[in-house]
Amino acid sequence: MHDIVIVGAGAAGCVLASRLTEDPDVSVLLIEAGPRSRKLEVKIPAAFSKLYRTELDWGDSTTPQSGLDGRAIVFPRGRMVGGSAAMNAMMVLRGHRADYDAWAEAGMERVLLQMMDQEDIAALESFARGVLPSL
Ligand SMILES: Cc1cc2nc3c(=O)[nH]c(=O)nc-3n(C[C@H](O)[C@H](O)[C@H](O)COP(=O)(O)OP(=O)(O)OC[C@H]3O[C@@H](n4cnc5c(N)ncnc54)[C@H](O)[C@@H]3O)c2cc1C
Repeated sequence: MHDIVIVGAGAAGCVLASRLTEDPDVSVLLIEAGPRSRKLEVKIPAAFSKLYRTELDWGDSTTPQSGLDGRAIVFPRGRMVGGSAAMNAMMVLRGHRADYDAWAEAGMERVLLQMMDQEDIAALESFARGVLPSL
């Protein structure tokens, strides 16, 4: 018996499980369809496309696209512990300041601290980058 069941150990599922289990009184079951992989291509961000159409990819495609002369396009999604985050290129781009205007009303400082809590990029430290400042 578990208090919470999370389906999918991808980016969202893993963070959710990690945060929820910070409370020792909450038991969480995290279910993942794919395996845990130690393949080199999972560890090397630039090798992500080598995982397409493997057992670690759901193997999806778009429907045929009329604007592309009827071609269907490969639509990779990770099928493993880590989900698509385990097959992504690890490119990081924080949105433009204007994107967060609505959030700012809710308290941009709080959002920024959440972002910095997820980073450790001391070499790029600035308002928009870097590690969590000591509070
Ligand atoms: C090829 C590729 C490159 C990318 N590059 C970047 C990048 O450079 N930078 C960036 O920021 N983002 C990138 N992304 C996007 C990023 O990886 C996704 O936005 C993010 O992983 C989505 O998180 P998620 O939790 O919604 O889904 P996912 O991380 O995909 O997790 C979903 C999980 O649920 C599992 N699942 C699905 N159905 C079931 C089921 N019925 N039962 C059990 N488990 C199930 C899946 O197997 C998977 O593990 C990329 C994505 C891909 C596919």
